[in-house]
Amino acid sequence: MRQNKNKLTGVIGWPLAHSLSPFLHNAIYKNEGVDAEMRAYEGQDIAELVKLARTLPLELMAVTIPHKQTIMPLLDVVDAKAKKIGAVNTVINRGGVLTGYNTDIIGVKHALAGVKINNKNVLIIGAGGAAQPVAAVVSSARGNILCLNRTGAKAEALVKKFGGEALTENQLRNDKIRIDVIINTTPIGLKGEREDELPLAADLVEAGQTIFDCVYNPFETQFLQLAKERGAKIISGLKMFVAQALAQEELWLAKKIINKNYEDFLKKYL
Ligand code: NAP
Repeated sequence: MRQNKNKLTGVIGWPLAHSLSPFLHNAIYKNEGVDAEMRAYEGQDIAELVKLARTLPLELMAVTIPHKQTIMPLLDVVDAKAKKIGAVNTVINRGGVLTGYNTDIIGVKHALAGVKINNKNVLIIGAGGAAQPVAAVVSSARGNILCLNRTGAKAEALVKKFGGEALTENQLRNDKIRIDVIINTTPIGLKGEREDELPLAADLVEAGQTIFDCVYNPFETQFLQLAKERGAKIISGLKMFVAQALAQEELWLAKKIINKNYEDFLKKYL
């Protein structure tokens, strides 16, 4: 229930049952003394969601699956970095003018801090909204992008933009291509959706690799559990999630937000 908060913000996407955004943003508002409340607005029709955001109005929108790319033409302004990445995960409503940004890139950088990317073969699984900032970070750190996606044409489009090679599991296996880092940007492994599935064949996961799963709910997906068992280094999507959300609030509130151990705080909701 809305508790008569002065300002309203929202997470928009579909499905949203897994989303921790309201818990995190509302905790930030409480800690920072901001008179606002974030609510979840679930929907598959992005035009309807944007219309709702303009009407309510929502002052900040956290944009998630599957709308990060389709929202772009519906906004009044898209910031240059988000345009270059090709995805928007944040919209700020300033007096009715909707401006799109991408803070996922900050989240990806935070999650991959300390991981060697330069000259390494980095397998990106998926080619949607989350894959774009991942590819941007890998490309700027001079990693070799290998992209594997259900729809091959989208993988081709991603590597055309960021460099690298689009390939299949069979190519990876048959050509014995070394994989140093694996990043899952698909929703496979997400609680309540495809929790028991793996985004990549198990035989391609081995010790010595670093595996980063953008899915943050559950904290350790099946994929991360398998990787851990095999002796790989694992990174949970929760790290990225908290960093990108703090950056969203910094954009809206125009001030530095301290990370008050929000990763641990969120684990109780997982
Ligand atoms: P998206 O734009 O809809 O892209 C989804 C990608 O996953 C597409 O490449 C899609 O392939 C692929 N995919 C979807 N279902 C699949 C299936 N059943 N089998 C194989 N491939 C499948 O979504 P998104 O915004 O990138 O989000 C993807 C996931 O990342 C979500 O679970 C989201 O919660 C998570 N995420 C986490 C963070 C974080 O902060 N940790 C940030 C962003 C996103 P096609 O091209 O064939 O459709």
